[in-house]
Amino acid sequence: MSYHANEKGYYGEFGGAFIPEMLYPNTEELRRQYIQIMQEPSFKEEFSKLLKDYVGRPTPLYFGERFSNKYHTKVYLKREDLCHTGAHKVNNTIGQILMAKKLGKNRIIAETGAGQHGVATATVCALMGIECVVYMGEIDIARQAPNVARMKMLGAEVRPALSGSRTLKDATNEAIRDWINNPVDTHYIIGSVVGPHPYPDMVARFQSVISEEIKWQLKEKEGRENPDYVVACVGGGSNAAGAYYHYLDNEEVGIIAVEAAGKGIDTGESAATSALGKVGIIHGSKTLLMQTTDGQITEPYSISAGLDYPGVGPMHAHLYRSGRAEFISITDDDAMKAGLNLCKTEGIIPAIESSHALAIFEQRKFNPDDIVVVNLSGRGDKDLETYIDYFGL
Ligand SMILES: *Cc1c(COP(=O)(O)O)cnc(C)c1O
Repeated sequence: MSYHANEKGYYGEFGGAFIPEMLYPNTEELRRQYIQIMQEPSFKEEFSKLLKDYVGRPTPLYFGERFSNKYHTKVYLKREDLCHTGAHKVNNTIGQILMAKKLGKNRIIAETGAGQHGVATATVCALMGIECVVYMGEIDIARQAPNVARMKMLGAEVRPALSGSRTLKDATNEAIRDWINNPVDTHYIIGSVVGPHPYPDMVARFQSVISEEIKWQLKEKEGRENPDYVVACVGGGSNAAGAYYHYLDNEEVGIIAVEAAGKGIDTGESAATSALGKVGIIHGSKTLLMQTTDGQITEPYSISAGLDYPGVGPMHAHLYRSGRAEFISITDDDAMKAGLNLCKTEGIIPAIESSHALAIFEQRKFNPDDIVVVNLSGRGDKDLETYIDYFGL
């Protein structure tokens, strides 16, 4: 069995492209060309050059000795927190801005919830001197002032979504409307392995540099390319897709996906999509999502903005359904504790999203000689206020 997308963008029963007719020309142009463009030597060369000189790759694969001793197993941290802008998201936006250039686009749009993807998009648009419009819910704009300021400093226009609940979902609708109206000159940069085909596969390929590096780095350190387990947090699922990518079809490597349980799976305030989700269509893709019995998408909740998403990318829905991956959900409280624990044991302040992945060691046992790679998706600077409020620092 393969866990990669087929040519129609399906992972098992999940994926595909469920889009309004008017969007068809846009996604079709991308679908016909994305693989061919990604395989062009000039594209590959420019992509790896920017990953190296601008993003700062390869990111270290760091053996956390004190952390490992504490949990009686061997834990390596893949340091995506050391990427320029502080998280893995920029791997994808660099890839997509180069894709947009190859397709002859001179205008970029994006949607953002907490603002992290908006910042990663505004960053690469500044780098390339390309016009950038980021749609963001009016409520989110008020909640995420520092990221709004960052986007403005980087030269992006932040357009408020004023309809509906004025959050991510509404920003996405506005971005889609914009794309329909500007099919020729505009590329839409989606921020995770979600959306209609070919986005989930394209974003996974751009993020796959993470597991490509893990393979040779682990070989250098341990004499083997394969860890026993690779662990990542899942919001939409892009850092996880990148960390798993080159191990997906190798069943000797265990895959562990960590979701946000919020205040607890049964509290109604959660974002644990695999545990709570049902099959449905969100953002043009058939996947698991949290919804009411009559199919209305329910509001997710997590203390971490990056995991606060009602669905999960189709790759992850398939990994869950097929049993290929083990899914664990972690509450706000356990994630916060795990974040502080990493600070004290290793001197690294993690993003709260990443703290969810670190929390599994409190509840899941590993063997002393197991090698467990945890993808540290981002750094905690952006979350300082949440840490301060939570711990009363
Ligand atoms: C956005 C974000 C995530 C969640 O997004 P994925 O697409 O699931 O990776 C996780 N960690 C950090 C640091 C983020 O900024």
